Amino acid sequence: MEERRDEPPPAVTRPPVIASGAGTLSPLQQAYSNYVRHATACDRCRDLDGGACETAGELWRAYQAIGDDTYRRMPR
Ligand SMILES: [Zn+2]
Repeated sequence: MEERRDEPPPAVTRPPVIASGAGTLSPLQQAYSNYVRHATACDRCRDLDGGACETAGELWRAYQAIGDDTYRRMPR
């Protein structure tokens, strides 16, 4: 019997992984968690035609600033 090869793989449906547990995350992880939590709940962020979201932009810039600061502090 010949095996069918045109079947799509089974759909994987998993809930999004969202970092949580404030107090146990590093400042960088917390900043990213803040961004992801906003972006997954915000109607404007979820609407691809909704235009730029100011809040998401601020949270992303905060995450980048903490990342840049963390990198500068790393021993070389
Ligand atoms: Zn948003």
